[in-house]
Amino acid sequence: MKIVLLLGCIALACAKRFDGDQVLTLYPKAPAHLRLIKEFGSIDGLADFWAPDTADLVNIGGSVDIRFPSNRIRVVKRKIENAGMEYEVKILNLQSLINNQFDVPRKSRALGYDYNVYHTADEVLAWTDDIAAQYPNIARSQIMGKSEENRDIKMLTLGSKTTNPMFVIDCGIHAREWISPAVCQCFVNRMLSNYGVDPDVTAMMDALTFIVFPVLNVDGYAYSWSDDRMWRKTRSNYGTVCTGVDPNRNFDAEWSGPGSSSNPCSDTYYGPSMASEQLTQVLQGFVRANQGNIKAYVTFHSYSQLYIYPYSYDYKDAANAAELDSLAADSAAALQSVNNKRFTWGAGHSSMYLAAGGSDDFAIDNGVSISYTIELRDTGRYGFVLPENQIEPSCQEIYPALDVIINHVM
Ligand SMILES: [Zn+2]
Repeated sequence: MKIVLLLGCIALACAKRFDGDQVLTLYPKAPAHLRLIKEFGSIDGLADFWAPDTADLVNIGGSVDIRFPSNRIRVVKRKIENAGMEYEVKILNLQSLINNQFDVPRKSRALGYDYNVYHTADEVLAWTDDIAAQYPNIARSQIMGKSEENRDIKMLTLGSKTTNPMFVIDCGIHAREWISPAVCQCFVNRMLSNYGVDPDVTAMMDALTFIVFPVLNVDGYAYSWSDDRMWRKTRSNYGTVCTGVDPNRNFDAEWSGPGSSSNPCSDTYYGPSMASEQLTQVLQGFVRANQGNIKAYVTFHSYSQLYIYPYSYDYKDAANAAELDSLAADSAAALQSVNNKRFTWGAGHSSMYLAAGGSDDFAIDNGVSISYTIELRDTGRYGFVLPENQIEPSCQEIYPALDVIINHVM
């Protein structure tokens, strides 16, 4: 037993460490500040952009959260100070946050699946089949494709009929955003366990067919558990020195355009070709095959507490931008009523900079008029390393927020 434990890697035990890594929030107030931020972004391995996710998206008067490795912190801070840019240390030692993220006591397995803790890729894949088997009349689990590392890309279909207009939700496009798959799981459980119990849930499940991809970037998610908690991309390699494509720059939505990178070492690498990634092909294929029958698409990311609606690839508004804006406002109000967490909203391009190749823009360009990227908790105190004790309140507040969108399309 001891030998097995020594040879095998338990969650995060053999993973990359982040001792002394810091996350700084920078407040650029001048063009020279933006130039310095872009310079940080141009050096491979120096700056890990947390929010927004690329230097291109940072603007004067805004802010940016960046992780810097411990051995570069001193030089980086000197450069920031010399440039006269304001900053604050958001996370002093990233490793200590990683060590403390599993802060919810494990409940006994006999009590069933625990929705208040983070689960590995294998656990989520097994759960997808288990939960469908538990509710055979209103749920179905399917394998929609295979990832680059040969894992299943699974999809759940929920509802009293499979032929109703569809509401598509996906989670886990970016690997390190663990709160996203956690929210997909609790949402599925809420819809299934309340069918025939809660009249509102029953009405939604009778009117719509819910399509849920619980963890789209399953390879990246597995890697964020086993090797690198800060991994964002897929795990494909096309013969380059760096591995992984940013799946949310890989879609057929002005692919390879602004705000995405041709550099395979970049965290926003758009890939060797459009829809090169298996998960992109799965989602694109599903949306195209059901064109005209998908009422809404919601993709969960973290963090920033923000609703983003199209377009992000160009300075243009969606035809129904006013509808998307007021619906986001209503949804955010419902969300805030639960735990008083404030989420903001706006078109992707309104940040003044662009990000091409995203799944939300792809959806609206393929007939899904209600399309949102929702960036979940928090606003940077923990960032991607959101502790487990925030899963349950995140779920509780996202239910009424989604209900507003669901009711709008019913
Ligand atoms: Zn993301």
